[in-house]
Amino acid sequence: MAVTGLRIGVVGGSIAGCAMAIAGARAGADVTVHERSDGALQDRGFGIVIPPPLHQELVVGGYLGADMPTAPVATRVWLARAPGRRSARELARQQAPVAACNWGLLWRALRANAQDGTYHRGRPVGSVGRTASGGALIRTADGEREYDVVVGADGHRSVTRDALAPGVRPVPAGYLVWRGTIPAAALRDHPGQLAMLESSWVTLGFPGGHGVFYLIPGAAGGSRLLAYAIYASPPAADVPASTAYVRHIAEEHFPAEWADIVARGEHTSQVLHPVADFVVPRAAEPPFLLAGDAASVTRPHTASGAVKALQDALCLERSLRASSSAAEALRRYADERSAEGARLVGLGRRLGRALVENTPDWPAMGPAEVEALSRAALDGDGSYLYGSVQR
Ligand SMILES: Cc1cc2nc3c(=O)[nH]c(=O)nc-3n(C[C@H](O)[C@H](O)[C@H](O)COP(=O)(O)OP(=O)(O)OC[C@H]3O[C@@H](n4cnc5c(N)ncnc54)[C@H](O)[C@@H]3O)c2cc1C
Repeated sequence: MAVTGLRIGVVGGSIAGCAMAIAGARAGADVTVHERSDGALQDRGFGIVIPPPLHQELVVGGYLGADMPTAPVATRVWLARAPGRRSARELARQQAPVAACNWGLLWRALRANAQDGTYHRGRPVGSVGRTASGGALIRTADGEREYDVVVGADGHRSVTRDALAPGVRPVPAGYLVWRGTIPAAALRDHPGQLAMLESSWVTLGFPGGHGVFYLIPGAAGGSRLLAYAIYASPPAADVPASTAYVRHIAEEHFPAEWADIVARGEHTSQVLHPVADFVVPRAAEPPFLLAGDAASVTRPHTASGAVKALQDALCLERSLRASSSAAEALRRYADERSAEGARLVGLGRRLGRALVENTPDWPAMGPAEVEALSRAALDGDGSYLYGSVQR
């Protein structure tokens, strides 16, 4: 018989935290979320993509409303600057459907469905601990609360992970990612690029890195945004690594039209991250369970951090429904999700090596070379970003 009535405390109320709260409530648990921030998380308005079948599963499963806007596209176009020219050259096309989302709208849609539990904002968790009877404690400035299970959904600097897997630290990749969003209106002088982005997402290769571009819905009914993530080495020691440096990369390496689009000063969001990864050996040990970035962070080339967090939640719901005790549910969860975290970290490293650390001579490539590069990086694994590349 399924275990119900568990008291589940969730640390963190972002993508993973809200999804885990929905999962717990759907499986009959009494869920409380403790979120550090008292601001509006929907303001973190970046682009992310998820596989369309996962989006559909989440709508059918009651995690996401069918009205959450997405910008689905089915094709991936690979571009580079034409040799000796400033124009773009198309290298290849792959069938690789994605549902492009606005991070803030995704969070808001999950938050709207996480109403069955209690969601406390402005409630930082100082630490988690164990009770003598095998339960879990969440400690905040208000005191201690006891739970049967504590879910760490508190991101890459998780305090919950310190209790379950102390010593796991991010491994730097040695390069950076510039991430931003620009109003789609910035494409008004570039109808060819806009038309391409209406039906596809774009990978733009350049010496020492690559960029990914796709359209996402605007926040709160606003107009669409162009989202990008551009991967490259840090600038030379005498040049500050800043968000503004992305203009230099674009002007130095991009085809003229794409450089012009990125160089426009109309960004609605812009951030610079070092790329790093890690994975815990085991994603749950009673009474603790880790979800989303708290359990593992993969290099973003896999576009799988939010995807994994959402799949973690689906797995928690399945595990609770299929288990007669919290311990059994956490064992099922750990068996499935630990392996997935490790798989994605490996995939991210191979993609990072192929697309940033050892970039090919992009302009010399065509469909066969892109296919071969993709296959070699996948190394027998699968990724929804490489849909039509056969394993
Ligand atoms: C460049 C880039 C591109 C990406 N693209 C994609 C993509 O296309 N597809 C995809 O699936 N993923 C993508 N990702 C990854 C994705 O954005 C993240 O994996 C995902 O948002 C992580 O969600 P999370 O809820 O686990 O963590 P976070 O969003 O980091 O949330 C953690 C939450 O915990 C709270 N918190 C932290 N500590 C405490 C505490 N002590 N007490 C209480 N609360 C606490 C924080 O305030 C925060 O709200 C990308 C990432 C990057 C960097």
